[in-house]
Amino acid sequence: MKRGKLFVLSGPSGVGKSTILKDLAQRQEFYFSVSATTRDPRPGEENGVHYHFHTAEEFQKLIEENALLEWAEYVGNYYGTPAKYVDEAMESGRNVILDIEVQGAGQVKESRPEAVRIFIAPPSWEELERRLTERGTDTAEKIEKRLARAKEEFESAKNYDYIVVNTTVKAAVCELEAIMIAEHCRPAERIAMIENTMK
Ligand code: 5GP
Repeated sequence: MKRGKLFVLSGPSGVGKSTILKDLAQRQEFYFSVSATTRDPRPGEENGVHYHFHTAEEFQKLIEENALLEWAEYVGNYYGTPAKYVDEAMESGRNVILDIEVQGAGQVKESRPEAVRIFIAPPSWEELERRLTERGTDTAEKIEKRLARAKEEFESAKNYDYIVVNTTVKAAVCELEAIMIAEHCRPAERIAMIENTMK
């Protein structure tokens, strides 16, 4: 069985990663890694679907048990990727997508250098501010903190393998799909296939 690929998606809060992933799921089969977090659920968010919601003590235990592929602090809360499900999905041949911030993406690059990292950028700073504010899920103070963090995150964009600009969801999904397809055409994956068929 061919192992699935690991795709790491980062980008500032409010850039539209969740919407893009929802649309991408209509076009590509993948396993979306549900993260562990200590932040409170937003209205409509379900435990085990959007996040695994934990207390700080529970999260600390996950770290101590080495159960997380990566973890980071983000605007006063902890977020981490449960390693077990990622490995299981990849073993079963499925592509895996992580939606994680840049520090966590850096950790994944260390432990899984083959991971493909994609940075999602907004079309402009004003648009990012507008999206974050209109989403209405955060207090003014949290929005300020998320925007400050976004400024730092832009600095890391150049270290990613790809940058997708979310001008429209449709275009961003097309680009993301193209990246996923292209990554499966790399010689490391294709060479065994041609060697077998050319015998
Ligand atoms: P939000 O609170 O808006 O759902 O997420 C805040 C930030 O945390 C986003 O940039 C998101 O990509 C990131 N994030 C979500 N899950 C994880 C995770 O498991 N690990 C890390 N490092 N970041 C995460």
